[in-house]
Order: sequence, then structure tokens, then C-alpha cells
Amino acid sequence: RAKENGKNQMEMYSSEINTLTMERFQMENQLRKALEREEFVLHYQPQFHLENNEVLGIEALLRWNSSDRGIVSPMEFIPLAEETGLIIPIGYWVLKEACRQNKRWMDQGHRPKIVSVNISARQLQEKDFVQAVKSILEDTQLPTQYLCLEITESTAIKNIDISMNMLKELGELGIKIAIDDFGTGYSSLAMLKQLPISNIKIDKSFIRDMDVDKDDGAIVRAIIAMAHSLELTVTAEGVETEDQKNILLQEKCNYLQGYLYSKPLPAEECLRFVQE
Ligand code: C2E
Ligand code: MG
Ligand code: MG
Ligand code: MG
Repeated sequence: RAKENGKNQMEMYSSEINTLTMERFQMENQLRKALEREEFVLHYQPQFHLENNEVLGIEALLRWNSSDRGIVSPMEFIPLAEETGLIIPIGYWVLKEACRQNKRWMDQGHRPKIVSVNISARQLQEKDFVQAVKSILEDTQLPTQYLCLEITESTAIKNIDISMNMLKELGELGIKIAIDDFGTGYSSLAMLKQLPISNIKIDKSFIRDMDVDKDDGAIVRAIIAMAHSLELTVTAEGVETEDQKNILLQEKCNYLQGYLYSKPLPAEECLRFVQE
């Protein structure tokens, strides 16, 4: 009896694994075709300067409008894109599209803003990443100071020597570097000091409960104070309430981003929002 159960369980596991493998395999195939089918689109979320309530920057966030599955969240397909290496061509598409859009806004006479693009660890492992970024800036004619790359702590730590050199080269070109989701990775303060970064983004998990959870509030205040003593600016991401905004204002957080102001929007809608 026990033996039988065991066997049945084994069969069940292996059929579940097969379903998972099939599902993954299908998604990978669809992801492979997504670029040529032009199924990717960027949404844009404004980043507000707290002092004067102006939009200083805009984060580009990738959306996959799949003909097979509808809108797929980046949380679902970025990990697979990273594992398969597809993040390389997809990542270049994102960079180029974001730079092109930002330059278009400038050409239309809008006040220049910094466009932020998320970069995966895998992309920084490409030997010619710096060169590729350079040619994208040349092709799109976007002045380098209007591009910011957002990397996570773990991205920066993977192959620290190589990343460090690349980030330095990018910084020397005038491109800004921000640390994303700060507080959730391996934060070595020594690393923060060495990296050529200009901005820290506090992870939204700390912002979410900062007005009700004492510890989260303390962490947010500590990060802001630390960043400022290192002469870095700070962005709070995931700001949803007036309470959170008021505390952040008091603590002199530099930039705010979140649903309180605006969700990520298609380019046209984002522009309309920014103009209002
Ligand atoms: P992230 O870079 O930390 O981006 C912030 C995420 O928080 C976005 O989720 C944004 O829509 C969401 N968000 C903004 N404001 C609020 C708020 O007030 N409340 C809440 N609950 N959420 C808010 P999204 O667009 O789903 O992206 C998720 C993650 O996927 C990003 O996190 C980033 O790590 C990754 N990602 C997105 N686009 C790209 C890309 O082009 N390349 C790479 N490598 N990763 C990307
Ligand atoms: Mg980001
Ligand atoms: Mg983040
Ligand atoms: Mg993230």
C-alpha cells in the first residue's frame, strides 16, 4: 500500500514537473518571438522632485503585450529572459526605445527629463555593454546626462570588478547610475562608497508600512541620512499615501515615485500627466 502510494506520488510529481517544463518552454518560445512581433511596450512613471514638486525624471518600465497571453508582468517574464539570455536583445530594445522617446519629448520642446532604465546583472556581464550604450546614445542623439541606469545591489555585486569598471566608464560618459530596491540585497556600505552612483532608491517594501511600522520608518530615515552623508540623492519608490509623503518630506527625501502621483502610463498619457 505504502509502496503504491509512493509510486503514485512519484508519478504525480513527475507529471507536475512536466507541466511546469512545458509551460516554461512555451513561454520561452513566445518570448523569443516577442521582439520581432513588436509585442513589447514601455510604460513611464514620473519621479517628483520634493522641493519644487516638479517632474525630474521618468522611469521606463517594460510591458509584454503577448498575442498568446495578454499583458504579462515583468515580474513573470524578466527572470525567464535573464535565464535564457533573451534579456540581452530585450534590454537593448528597452534602452533604445527609452532614449528615443526621451529625445522625442525634448525635440517637442518639453523641459528635459532624465529617463531611468532598469538593467539586469546579465546585461552588465556583456563585454561590449558600454560600447552598445554609447552607440544607442549616438543613434538616438540623447545627451548622456538625460539617461540613468537603475541596477540592484546584487547586480552590482555580481562580478564586482567588471561591473565596477563598466559603471565607472558609464559614469565618465555622464550617464547617471542609481541603486534600485535598496535595502533588500547585500548592502555593503564599502561598496556604496566605491560605486560611481548618484542616487539610491529605497525599496517599496519599506515605504509601504513606514507610516504604521516603527521599524520600517526607522530604516527609511536611516537610509536617507546615510545617503545624504555620502552625498547621494534618495528616491522613495512605491509612495501611495499622503502620510508617507509627509514623513518623506520631513526627512528631506529628494525624489518620490508612486501611485500617489501616477501609475506607470503609456508615453502619451504620461506626457499629458506631466504637463498638467
Ligand atoms: P522596479 O524597477 O523596482 O520598479 C518599480 C515597480 O514598482 C514597478 O513594477 C512599478 O510599477 C511599481 N510601483 C510603482 N509605484 C508603485 C506604488 O505606489 N505601489 C506599488 N505597489 N507598486 C508601485 P513593475 O512595472 O511591475 O516592474 C517590476 C520590476 O520588473 C521592476 O522593479 C524591475 O525590477 C523589473 N523591470 C521592469 N522593466 C524592466 C526592464 O526594462 N528591464 C529589466 N531588466 N527589468 C525591468
Ligand atoms: Mg527600477
Ligand atoms: Mg525598485
Ligand atoms: Mg525591482
